Amino acid sequence: MKVLVAVKRVVDHHVKVRVLVDGSDVDVASAKMSVNPFDEIAVEEAVRLREAGLASEVLVVSCGVAACQDTLRAALAMGADRAVRVETDVALQPLAVARLLHALCLREQPGLVICGKQAIDDDAAQTGQMLAALLGWPQATNASRVTLTGGRVEVECGIDGGTEVLSLSLPAVLTTDLRLNEPRYASLPGMMKAKKKPLDTVTPAQLGVDVTPGLRTVRVAEPPVREPGVRVASVEQLLACLCGEGGALRGALP
Ligand code: AMP
Repeated sequence: MKVLVAVKRVVDHHVKVRVLVDGSDVDVASAKMSVNPFDEIAVEEAVRLREAGLASEVLVVSCGVAACQDTLRAALAMGADRAVRVETDVALQPLAVARLLHALCLREQPGLVICGKQAIDDDAAQTGQMLAALLGWPQATNASRVTLTGGRVEVECGIDGGTEVLSLSLPAVLTTDLRLNEPRYASLPGMMKAKKKPLDTVTPAQLGVDVTPGLRTVRVAEPPVREPGVRVASVEQLLACLCGEGGALRGALP
């Protein structure tokens, strides 16, 4: 069974992004970019399935600018077998990515697709769900445990206030939670091998997909600056602040 993993190139999570002066977007021009952390977890899970003999091939896919090649090489260095880059300079929105992945799934016929639960740049958490809908395949989101048995996949999913266990027929789409696994670091031999692994490039037009954005960003703004706190000298003073005029606990305590 082939496992297809979607990996997105995002601003590194250590970078503090700034809004462009015209408020049109955030400035990522010189920011350090990395593999979306949830997608590293997805690659790790797919590689573990292959190492356990439950998957035959791990195909990683990234959609976007030419530099997505680095993202794919990083995934190949972790152990993925093959990569496809869907090249476009258009700023892709989740529905466009889902359509591209849908077209690739029809071409590649994976038994399982693993996406991150969200990309840390747009925080949309939409692509995996939209892909499953386009394919008409079952989906399990926020996966914290994945077990493949007898043509089905059992998935423990994080939900509000706990977890639920779903059993899906294959093919299926999963999205990864942080608790699923601890992604490995790419080894030096892994990085060397990655340079020789196949990496194909296709365009949205070759896949027959129109990636024109359907949504327009009206304005991007910094979050409001937090008011500075006050230092109090005693618990009595703290309670007086909280319960006094305008205090957060005013009226809440007897
Ligand atoms: P989002 O819906 O944008 O939060 O993204 C959820 C997941 O979809 C990511 O963790 C990736 O697995 C996948 N994804 C989103 N955008 C891309 C992209 N441009 N290329 C490859 N995978 C993507």
